[in-house]
Amino acid sequence: MDVFKKCFDFTEARDAMEHGIYPYFIPLTETEGSEANYQGHKLIMCGSNNYLGLTTHPKVREAAIEAIRHYGTSCTGSRFLNGTLELHERLEVELAEWVGKEAALVFSTGMQTNLGVISALINRDDIIILDKDDHASIVDGAKLSPGKIERFRHNDMEHLERVLQSISVEAGRLIVVDGLFSMEGDLAPLPKLIPLAKKYGARVMVDDAHAFGVLGGGRGTAAHFGMTQDVDLIMSTFSKSLASLGGFIAGDEDVIHFIKHTARSLIFSASIPPSNAAAALAALQVMREEPERIERVNQIADRMRREYQALGFNTGNSVTPVIPILIGDNERTFLMWKKLFDAGVFVNPVIAPAVFPGRQLLRTSYMATHTDAQLDFVLETFAKVGKEVGII
Ligand code: PMP
Repeated sequence: MDVFKKCFDFTEARDAMEHGIYPYFIPLTETEGSEANYQGHKLIMCGSNNYLGLTTHPKVREAAIEAIRHYGTSCTGSRFLNGTLELHERLEVELAEWVGKEAALVFSTGMQTNLGVISALINRDDIIILDKDDHASIVDGAKLSPGKIERFRHNDMEHLERVLQSISVEAGRLIVVDGLFSMEGDLAPLPKLIPLAKKYGARVMVDDAHAFGVLGGGRGTAAHFGMTQDVDLIMSTFSKSLASLGGFIAGDEDVIHFIKHTARSLIFSASIPPSNAAAALAALQVMREEPERIERVNQIADRMRREYQALGFNTGNSVTPVIPILIGDNERTFLMWKKLFDAGVFVNPVIAPAVFPGRQLLRTSYMATHTDAQLDFVLETFAKVGKEVGII
């Protein structure tokens, strides 16, 4: 059997392209945050994770440019060897301080952070416990480790307790959850989860990719619930509110020191370029100086959720700037995506395996820099298209 046979048989995406309803890998010609352009077609961007709108902030741009002038374009090596700059360490100190932990460690992406941290911490005799809606990078990190994986139904704390009860008392255990779930915009119930973790001696790691810069005054989900000291490890990425590329893990110094010397995705991969580190550092600074951005993105989210619901759309359990429009089947999800795109609104169609069958949705997300006029246009377009497709 030829290993490439599966490639020759893979026709789904090509069929969608032929029918003009292929929604992925769209090469944008321009993007200035809340507005993008595809071959002359203007799009209001409601599919980005640029929550604070900082990718085009003058201070962030300038910091990236200045870092290239000063250090060049690449570190050409691992953090472990030649690839650590004083800039990386400054960023780590500031991130740790911002999220309220002793130490932090910067990786090249959020994906690599989860892969490296989880596989470094979980040994053969340990058990890793995941929410069924956890991000793919958490699941893959768990699969890379030799430990046993247990999963509980999304945000179902009774199921989590049954899982914890079923585990041998000798096994080390780590619960990993998204703080703000990336597809449906709901939160992990930390006030219920933490007492359970304590009762059964489990450590807790929260992936705050989407909550950093958005919740808890920008410090994330743990801060939002006033539980920073109860969450053992806080992970996040620079590819969302911090307007860059990279990731980090924060926690007790001993634990971070261990991860630093054992995480393979850190040791065997080049460090983030100086421009990315400088951009993240500048974005962190702007976030502190302009807290009104955090307020604005949350106000926008409240308005959009309220108005979508008034129009008759189902926004699930979202309480954040990630607002799903639940549709429930692939066909209408793609049809509605296409009509929105043609009308000038960019959103993301999400189908299995990113969500469970029956939960197919259009993921919309908002940024502090969306104008009221842009949002009015988005709502008008959704109302029109929603009726045409028969969703409302
Ligand atoms: N965790 C979550 C919850 C995410 O949504 C993402 C990115 N979509 C990641 C981790 C990975 O982050 P990065 O883009 O930096 O690799």
